[in-house]
Amino acid sequence: PVVSHPPMPWFGMDIGGTLCKLVYFEPKDVTPDEALEEKETLKNIRKYLTKNSAYGKTGHRDTHLQMDDVYIRGRRGTLHFIRFPTSEMDNFLTLARNKGMATLVSTVCATGGGAYKFEQNFKKEVNMRLHKYDELDSLVKGILYVEMNNPHECYYWANLSDDKLCEKREFDFKDPYPFLLVNIGSGVSVLAVYGPNNYKRVSGTSLGGGTFLGLCSLLTGCNSFDEAIELATIGDNTRVDKLVKDIYGGDYERFYLPGDLVASSFGQMITRERCMRARREDLARATLVTITNNIGSIARMCAQNEKINNLVFVGNFLRVNPIAMKLLARAMDYWSHGTIQPVFLEHEGYFGAVGCLLEIDD
Ligand code: ADP
Repeated sequence: PVVSHPPMPWFGMDIGGTLCKLVYFEPKDVTPDEALEEKETLKNIRKYLTKNSAYGKTGHRDTHLQMDDVYIRGRRGTLHFIRFPTSEMDNFLTLARNKGMATLVSTVCATGGGAYKFEQNFKKEVNMRLHKYDELDSLVKGILYVEMNNPHECYYWANLSDDKLCEKREFDFKDPYPFLLVNIGSGVSVLAVYGPNNYKRVSGTSLGGGTFLGLCSLLTGCNSFDEAIELATIGDNTRVDKLVKDIYGGDYERFYLPGDLVASSFGQMITRERCMRARREDLARATLVTITNNIGSIARMCAQNEKINNLVFVGNFLRVNPIAMKLLARAMDYWSHGTIQPVFLEHEGYFGAVGCLLEIDD
């Protein structure tokens, strides 16, 4: 039987509040006939995308996330994962036009708020229509697809009590439902997922990855997320936060609150002297701990409300961010008395874009 396919190239795009995620499917089963017929522009685009890992000043391909030998609509190929700041959308569209995209594709699958915000720009600049999909539908779909196709996708943090022994371990996601999905992007969404096509959004908070980066930039003058994380890594939040022991001199025994627990985030910053002593890196660490603990506490309350014990954390806030992941894992473990062990996914912020790519139709 003749299988009809939408024309190449196949893209899925998730245009978020901070980052635009682009997933590109590179076919690897091209027949000689097909290769002969392939247009020069399409060849050039494939070469440009797959031979480079930096595009302009701000575009990156996450080569470590590349997925080979995957099947989409019966075609075998490689998935490439590309991101750039949403603020660079104008430059992206100019590049796409210069590469001849306008002559190749007439529609692109897109999700995220930017699919609405930039719809007219796509039409004007590259003559592309956006096929818009809901971002949470795409997110859930993308997670299920990637998890099925990558045996090493899911992991948890083991040996949390000893920082030297604490390490990532593969997690078997064979029996996931129901699970609570916490997506930490610019803001945060919490979903209860009951089955492949059955979920609801149960909560959210505006204090998310964007808040971390925004506050960190204000407090430390850092210029990027990666720099904020580097600062936080060498910083000490106890020079900024007020701990239980700063108030009690030790544990608050009656309610089992250990002395090392943060009682008041940024609570030391009320005296001139303490403010002078806090270094940029301490402020970065305190910001990271504040935002992460707040998300952890909301996630735990949602889990309790929904009576769900499986927790999955995704979103680009967790990119290059083991501090936040371990903090979330420790908090879940502590407050749930070891009954909740959160799971993390390697493709962090790309699931919406993958889910969107899967929607591609003729
Ligand atoms: P959104 O769809 O809202 O853009 P993402 O899942 O892409 O959400 O996550 C965005 C968050 O990821 C940022 O708020 C920031 O905390 C973090 N982040 C990770 N890497 C970067 C980066 N290179 N640039 C900006 N923010 C980043």
